[in-house]
Amino acid sequence: MERKNLYIDFDGVILDTITPLYRDYEDQKVTPDKRIEFYENYPWETIINDDYIINDGINDIDKIIESDKFNLAILTHVNSLNEAVLKIKYLRKYFKDITIIPVPKAISKTKMIHTKDAILIDDYAGNLREWKEEGGIGIRFNQKGNAKGFQVIKDLREVIDMF
Ligand SMILES: [Mg+2]
Repeated sequence: MERKNLYIDFDGVILDTITPLYRDYEDQKVTPDKRIEFYENYPWETIINDDYIINDGINDIDKIIESDKFNLAILTHVNSLNEAVLKIKYLRKYFKDITIIPVPKAISKTKMIHTKDAILIDDYAGNLREWKEEGGIGIRFNQKGNAKGFQVIKDLREVIDMF
């Protein structure tokens, strides 16, 4: 069987960076005009670590690799080069031979790769909508099972039996 191209988002899928980011955004009363600056200067090293793993995400990625059904890559938006470096170093601790694609925040994930028939697992429905418009297959990652019009999973390993 031909392997499917599978892209997995990082924030809100592998690590729950979203909760501390939003909390600090609120606590610091960041104004909309300072939003980009906030993300660029955020101390990402404080949240890119094992404390924020969602469910058993890292082990699930191992299971996905073992299934041999997919060409797997991590596709993650980044606000700064420092954030990209931290994410790559974090993922490299666990995965020696995996493709990691940091995408500048201002660019759609669909503009970085060939999307046709490729699968994207992402927690953000906006990314999934763009992905689908470009001929890809979107799967929403959501702990409450909130699908927003897509197939939805709570654990990454669920994707293994979907294809
Ligand atoms: Mg995300």
